[in-house]
Amino acid sequence: ANSLDITSIRNDFPILNEIVNGKQLVYFDNAATTQKPRLVLDALSGYYEHYNANIHRGIHHLAEKATGAFEESRRRLQKFINAPLSEEVIFTYGTTDSINLVAQTYGRRFLKKGDEIIISTMEHHSNIVPWQMLCEEKGCILKVIPINDDGELLMDEFEKMLSERTKFVSVVHVSNALGTINPIKEIIAKAHAVGAKVMIDGAQASSHLAIDVQDLDCDFYGLSLHKIYGPTGMGILFGKKELLDAMPPYRGGGEMIKEVTFAKTTYNELPYKFEAGTPNIADVVAAKFALDYVDNLGKENIAGHENDLLEYGTQALKEIEGLRIIGNAREKVSVISFVIDGIHHQDIGVLLDQQGIAVRTGHHCTQPLMQRFGITGTTRASFAVYNSIEEVDLLIKGLHKVKKMLG
Ligand code: PMP
Repeated sequence: ANSLDITSIRNDFPILNEIVNGKQLVYFDNAATTQKPRLVLDALSGYYEHYNANIHRGIHHLAEKATGAFEESRRRLQKFINAPLSEEVIFTYGTTDSINLVAQTYGRRFLKKGDEIIISTMEHHSNIVPWQMLCEEKGCILKVIPINDDGELLMDEFEKMLSERTKFVSVVHVSNALGTINPIKEIIAKAHAVGAKVMIDGAQASSHLAIDVQDLDCDFYGLSLHKIYGPTGMGILFGKKELLDAMPPYRGGGEMIKEVTFAKTTYNELPYKFEAGTPNIADVVAAKFALDYVDNLGKENIAGHENDLLEYGTQALKEIEGLRIIGNAREKVSVISFVIDGIHHQDIGVLLDQQGIAVRTGHHCTQPLMQRFGITGTTRASFAVYNSIEEVDLLIKGLHKVKKMLG
């Protein structure tokens, strides 16, 4: 039902030719990290082979070329999320780092004892622990939006939580464990109405949905490139300029300063104020190529294909006796988390791996969410653009085999 040529797309990803336990790899662990197309791999080795140099300070040819490519990636990411200004795009190590940056700078400077911070039941640990650390230090109060049995936020409960004491709201755009797409535009508007600032954890959303930070009007948005067919170890924090300007720096060191004396140091302007030390230059440079790849295919086309896989997989899995899908939101991305009566998720994972099928098992860094469902973990199959219906069939076949062996 869409225009993508999946066979040709698969050829762009060398790793899909790997043989695992004597079988052709079926990679369904895309919510943990996506595989990388050849043009990203070429960009990485191209950087190291032809223009590896430290950026910003050098006057020689290679340093200029590396700096140019690094800053071009920033503008590419600006475009990817439709940020108004390129200096509102801060390079980080990923979503975890982006959230910690906000908690440790905005949070420590502007939040105080008794202030309320709202997160949700379906947060990844990286959007829970930084806020708990802040609450412990500052005496803020953490509140948690509950969810229904389908894995959707209870918006009425959220609205009841909001008051003039609410100073910060940090919620996940798309749940990594359930696939739920949250109504973040509405959440942002309601939080703003009581004067709270809002951070969105976009780690899972950014490969499936178009991101427009101006339309959303979020104050902060974090994402990781390794979930968008890009390299590991880098991501961004988007922040509104007036907030980033008002925030103290995060890490101290080279690059983030204007002038250093032993008496007093002044800080650099945005975005460099938040980019101390030598950044992950190679991966930042290669990130641009991942975004080009995604935009060339078209996010709508990607989502269309992934939704086909989701629908097909959901129907087929539901027919397996004793299998229960965790996360049945009306709005969801191509993530299927499930449990099977009487079979431990870890055993399912091991037996699927023996058939060359990579899934994730366990709590998915969402232990409180697992507690909400009264389980210790799930088996999770998450689909990306290069996955095929034939691969979903292999998963179904694999699960029948698991049931025969253990059920
Ligand atoms: N939030 C969500 C929803 C995630 O899925 C992840 C990655 N599993 C993160 C945050 C953390 O991202 P990273 O590990 O790239 O910092």
